[in-house]
Amino acid sequence: MRALLLEQNDGKTVAAVGQISAEQLPEGDVVVDVDWSSLNYKDAMAITGTGKIIRQFPMVPGIDFAGRVSSSQDKRYDVGQQVVLTGWGVGETHWGGLAEQARVKGDWLVTLPEGLDARHAMIIGTAGFTAMLCVMALEEGGVLPDSGEVIVSGASGGVGSTAITLLATLGYDVVAISGRASNTDYLTQLGAKRVLSREEFSKEGRALDKQLWAGAIDSVGDQTLATLLSQTVYGGTVAACGLAGGYQLPTTVMPFILRNVRLQGIDSVMCPLHRRMDAWERLAQTLPASFYERAATEISLEKVPETAAGIMANTVTGRTLVKVRA
Ligand code: NDP
Repeated sequence: MRALLLEQNDGKTVAAVGQISAEQLPEGDVVVDVDWSSLNYKDAMAITGTGKIIRQFPMVPGIDFAGRVSSSQDKRYDVGQQVVLTGWGVGETHWGGLAEQARVKGDWLVTLPEGLDARHAMIIGTAGFTAMLCVMALEEGGVLPDSGEVIVSGASGGVGSTAITLLATLGYDVVAISGRASNTDYLTQLGAKRVLSREEFSKEGRALDKQLWAGAIDSVGDQTLATLLSQTVYGGTVAACGLAGGYQLPTTVMPFILRNVRLQGIDSVMCPLHRRMDAWERLAQTLPASFYERAATEISLEKVPETAAGIMANTVTGRTLVKVRA
């Protein structure tokens, strides 16, 4: 079967499409015929060899996939059943979704909810699933559509694009932060009321600034996250899931102790099964048909290395869907 294989050559990661056999697949109790995978920021880091995501080679990358069960020793899964997988170290320590088949633990799979096919599930992918977890965190923090404006950083990316669409569809007033003025039309079509420049948020500011945002979804980290915390209203919630701008957090305790601001961390990799199922149900119910057309670019397995480099160079917009089968 065809697979993207990562090898290490003189300390450098080399990615190329090659052939693997079913016997080479790692241990697991369910074999899935992978129809679609996607490219996320972490995939881009793994494929370009940035940040030591992969430690064992050869590796089949791909932190998410959707497809049909080919064989199963897990009673919960029947042959032909449509499933989706995100996280659990797949594509990092366990061969992943960028191959025609994957063998994984049944515990890692989610049955596709009604109304969502495998292609749509991978337009959402890990990034969109994480955006849903962020929206759920805002709701649990008491941030509701009438609470005030909600701001989304890293707006043109996978998490950002999906978060804007979800929030706007649910009735929130959404403000986007982007480093690319050329994406303003794209972001307003997704549902952003206005788009602010990344620069305004990436310079050091006051510990407590003007209270502007009822909630925030941040996939950038570093000074951007610190600025968002300083501008969040009394009792507001900030959901932090990413580090596209850096992993530091140069903030103070002031937003927490004087404004009762909640900083909620979001991890999609080890998210428990019941919460995964809730999130996928809500994604299936909430995302409008227009999202799948506007936010997705489809590529072949051969195009993956080039597109991964584009993600690292911040030249890719929205979600990248990978058609795994030729
Ligand atoms: P993308 O590459 O699709 O999007 C990231 C976006 O961030 C870009 O489109 C860009 O938006 C913005 N950005 C890029 N570089 C910088 C920079 N140097 N400074 C400020 N902004 C920048 O990535 P994803 O949406 O897939 O992932 C976003 C982040 O979330 C990543 O750090 C990823 O690792 C993390 N993540 C975490 C998960 C978890 O479980 N916690 C799961 C999924 C993702 P624009 O051009 O509009 O400014």
